[in-house]
Amino acid sequence: MTATAQPLPPTAGALDPNEVVRRIRAALPPGETKAALHEPRFGGNEKAYLADCIDTNWVSYAGGYVKKFEQALAEACGVAHAISVTSGTVALQLAMHMAGVQAGDEVLVPSLTFVASANAIVHAGGVPHFVDADTATLGIDPVALARYLDVTVERRNGESWNKATGRRIAALLPVHIFGHPADMDALNAIAAQYGLAVIEDATESLGSRYKDRPCGSLAPLAVLSFNGNKIVTTGGGGAILTDDAQLADRLRHLTTTAKLPHRWAFIHDEVGWNFRLPNINAALGLAQMERLDVMVAAKRRLWDAYNAAFADFAHGRVFAEAPATKSNHWLVTLILAPGSEDRLDAVLAATNDAGLMTRPIWTPMHQLPMYAENPRAALPVTEDLARRVINLPSSPFLAPA
Ligand SMILES: *Cc1c(COP(=O)(O)O)cnc(C)c1O
Repeated sequence: MTATAQPLPPTAGALDPNEVVRRIRAALPPGETKAALHEPRFGGNEKAYLADCIDTNWVSYAGGYVKKFEQALAEACGVAHAISVTSGTVALQLAMHMAGVQAGDEVLVPSLTFVASANAIVHAGGVPHFVDADTATLGIDPVALARYLDVTVERRNGESWNKATGRRIAALLPVHIFGHPADMDALNAIAAQYGLAVIEDATESLGSRYKDRPCGSLAPLAVLSFNGNKIVTTGGGGAILTDDAQLADRLRHLTTTAKLPHRWAFIHDEVGWNFRLPNINAALGLAQMERLDVMVAAKRRLWDAYNAAFADFAHGRVFAEAPATKSNHWLVTLILAPGSEDRLDAVLAATNDAGLMTRPIWTPMHQLPMYAENPRAALPVTEDLARRVINLPSSPFLAPA
C-alpha cells in the first residue's frame, strides 16, 4: 500500500509535445527532416504522357488518356464504369443528382468530414443533415444512425420524411475518413430499410478495401477525388463510379453539355454541364494509377513504422482500421488519449515548428457558420474526436524501403 501511494512527479503524467516530434522522427527515414502532410511524387510515366498530349495537340476534352484513365479507375475499384470529371466536389454533386436528390431533400452525411461532402449536397439542391461518427471507423456510426432514424423519420409510401423539418430524407453519403473504410454493410442495410439512395464518398479511399471489396464499389454510385493531396492526383479532378451502364451514359452526356452526336450541328437536349476531365489531367492520372499498388504498399509500410514509433506512447495511439477492412492509410491518424485534448494545440505547434506538417481533423460541419442551423443528430463522438485527432506526415515516399 505505502509503495503505490508515492505521488508522481508533477509533470510525469502530462503529454510532452516534443515527445511526439521525436516519435514522428523515429518513424521517418533519417534524411527526411522536413515533411509535408501529403505530397505527390511523379516517378513513372507522367512526363512521357504529358509530352505526348502536347506533341499531339490533344490537351483538352478529347483524347485517348481520358478513356484509359477511366478504365484504370474502373478496374482498380472493381466497377464497370468510371466517368472522370473536373473535381471530387462536382463528382459528388452529379452523383447526388443521379441518385434522385431533389431541391429541398435532406442528405445524411457525417459532420466529421471535409467540407466538400456537405457543400456538394447544397450544390445539388439538398440540405446536409449531420450524423455522428464511430470511433471504430471514424465514419458514420451505423448503430447511432439506426437509433436516430427510428425516432426522426416518418415513413410514407416507401419514402422517409423528417418529422421535425417536414423535408424528405433522400440519401445517405458515407465517407471513408482518411482512407479508413466505413461499415458499409451496416449502412447499406439501414439505407435499404429507409428507402435512401447511397452515394459512397470514396474521395480519400482509392486503394482501400472493405471485406475484400474495393472502396468505390460499395454503393450504386461512388465518388473519387484526384486533388493534389490525394493518393492519386491529376492536378485536380474527380470521378463517378457505377456498375449501371445507363447511368454512366447519362453522366457522360450531362457532363459534356448534353450534346447529341452530329457531324456539325449543335443540338443539346437538356441543360448540361461542362464537367469532363481534360486529357492532359487524365494523362497525369493514368501514370499515377500505374503505380497505385506501389503507393498503397508504401503507405502501409509507413503506417507500420508509425505503429512501431508510437507503440509504447502513453498519451495516444495510431489509428488502426476496423477488422476485415484495409485502409489505404491516406493520412496516418494519431488519436490522443482521452484527457489529452488540452495538449492538441501544443502538439500541432511543436510538430509544425519542427518542420513536420501535422493537422487536426476538420472543424465539424455543424460548427461552421453556414451549417450551424442544419438538421443534425446528437454528435458527441464527432465533437470528442475533433479535439483528439492529429494527422501525421503521410506521403508514400516517406515509407521505409
Ligand atoms: C477531397 C475530398 C472531396 C472533394 O474533392 P475535390 O476534388 O477537392 O473537389 C470530397 N470529400 C472528401 C471527404 C474529400 O476528402
